Amino acid sequence: MSEPAQKFEVVIAGGGLNGLAMAAALAGPAVRMPFNVCIVDGADPKTFSKPQFDGRASAITASSRKMLEALGVWPALADHAEAMREIVITDSRGAADRRPALLHFGEQHSPGTVSAHMVENSYLYSVLYDVVARSPHVEVMAGHTIDAYDFGKASTTVSLARVGRVAGELLIAADGRNSAARAAAGVETMGWSYPQAGITFTVEHDGDHEGRAEEHFLPAGPFAILPLTGRRSSIVWTEQSVFAGELMEMDDDAFQAEFEQRFGTRLGAVRLVSKRFCYPLSLQIAKQFAGDRLALIGDAAHVVHPIAGLGFNLGLRDIAALAEVVSDAARLGLDIGTVDVLERYQTWRRLDTVMVAAATDGINRLFSNDNSALRSIRDMGLGIVDRAGGLKTVFMREAAGLSGQLPKLLSGEAL
Ligand SMILES: Cc1cc2nc3c(=O)[nH]c(=O)nc-3n(C[C@H](O)[C@H](O)[C@H](O)COP(=O)(O)OP(=O)(O)OC[C@H]3O[C@@H](n4cnc5c(N)ncnc54)[C@H](O)[C@@H]3O)c2cc1C
Repeated sequence: MSEPAQKFEVVIAGGGLNGLAMAAALAGPAVRMPFNVCIVDGADPKTFSKPQFDGRASAITASSRKMLEALGVWPALADHAEAMREIVITDSRGAADRRPALLHFGEQHSPGTVSAHMVENSYLYSVLYDVVARSPHVEVMAGHTIDAYDFGKASTTVSLARVGRVAGELLIAADGRNSAARAAAGVETMGWSYPQAGITFTVEHDGDHEGRAEEHFLPAGPFAILPLTGRRSSIVWTEQSVFAGELMEMDDDAFQAEFEQRFGTRLGAVRLVSKRFCYPLSLQIAKQFAGDRLALIGDAAHVVHPIAGLGFNLGLRDIAALAEVVSDAARLGLDIGTVDVLERYQTWRRLDTVMVAAATDGINRLFSNDNSALRSIRDMGLGIVDRAGGLKTVFMREAAGLSGQLPKLLSGEAL
């Protein structure tokens, strides 16, 4: 007979940014009745507790920042966060230093609120990991890949290589875009791959960026320069997949020459100070976000184009909604893993996700080409937005994640 499974209220499959933030939301300082949580990740325990640089930095919106404050992680992040004070969007015409600004957002469009802060993902990981590892309510199981799932009537049981079995009243799938938990539950996805890839890395420059983010819409895709602390910026360079592969193969000098053509000279001399990473880009949405004993969050639920830097922010919105739904249910003495309870989570999150996915897809299609008719239409549309103060304020608040029915954590409230 097999060993009995270790039992938890919640088992989280995957300890990436979303899995860790989920554990922090359910068992950290923001929740009055902490859950008993197990988080499982296949990564080597040494790299899991000391995350490596992955080339990425995240734009943390104003509502996501409030949530990170409630989770108790913002104070440790604040010194590593750079406020985005200005966002300039340009079209593809002209040399790098003479691209006309199509849209210009500043703090005046959302007074008193910085729309976002840039934080390198490696800091986000390590600060979230610290909160989770400190919680007496969380068991961290790193270095264990889940290789089987059993969705039972009262719990979901997962099998881990070498450790045995772990059961949760609720399994939360946070195991990324190729989620094995999602596949095991038979949840299908819809979407497509983009013929583009995103190259990310960090640069140092002589000039001060003054908190200005720039997104240049080039024919192959957006080229984003995002302010980091000090005289540094994070680059997200979207290219056609084949050329992105060639760029990744280039030696540093050839790569730098290609990069400088797009970066321009506004910030003076510029140097690459990190390795380059290349990510395939796709749009993918799970057909269900919840089922009996299962909820999907983060990239397991949805992957969107990084054009607006919203992926992890969408994950935080999932986490805030799911944590509130299960906390409310537990307070009423309900079973947190039933589809009746989890349906509320699904309804709360699906529409927002589909809207963001459609918007990012539409903007990418509209801009990532050199069609002159489309160019005139988009220039006219953005020109109108740029001159209409009220419309800009609405855009700014949407981008900051401050519109719609916000879960409590995104307003900085405890559960
Ligand atoms: C180029 C680029 C730029 C981006 N920029 C931004 C930005 O500016 N702002 C923003 O908000 N978002 C951004 N994103 C999106 C964001 O990075 C992702 O949405 C986010 O990192 C996904 O985190 P996750 O935890 O859901 O998934 P993942 O990071 O994929 O984590 C999944 C985890 O599950 C584990 N795992 C998988 N399978 C198993 C298994 N069977 N057993 C045990 N463990 C398992 C893995 O080891 C991993 O740790 C960007 C994305 C890209 C590609």
